[in-house]
Amino acid sequence: MSDLQNPIFHNDAKARKWLEGHLWPDGPVCPHCGTIGATALRGKAHRPGVYQCNDCRQQFTVTVSTLYERSKLPLSKWLMATYLLCASKKGMSTRQLSRMLGVSVKSTWFMMHRIREALRESKPGPLGGAN
Ligand SMILES: [Zn+2]
Repeated sequence: MSDLQNPIFHNDAKARKWLEGHLWPDGPVCPHCGTIGATALRGKAHRPGVYQCNDCRQQFTVTVSTLYERSKLPLSKWLMATYLLCASKKGMSTRQLSRMLGVSVKSTWFMMHRIREALRESKPGPLGGAN
């Protein structure tokens, strides 16, 4: 699976950029009020990828209100886990996925659970367009 060499599965900045481009084709959308257009907050005080809404002034990142919200696990691992679960037709065991991702079995179990929940919803997840 050479697709796994994709930098979005290994580099969190690239993973975030990819997700932003995928979810926000017209620019950042505020999850709080729906306004399109926000200011990227830069500098040492902020994590990369934090935006402030030009309208309601609330701060957000691209993962707010997605299955990747509020996780300490790197976004690149999340994207890889989602990809692997979607791509493997026969399904994949937690241990197998854990080895491929290089994260603990416990974390892998948590990711699989969340991803499956998201896939079960009628609305396609962030990776719905892929494959
Ligand atoms: Zn807003």
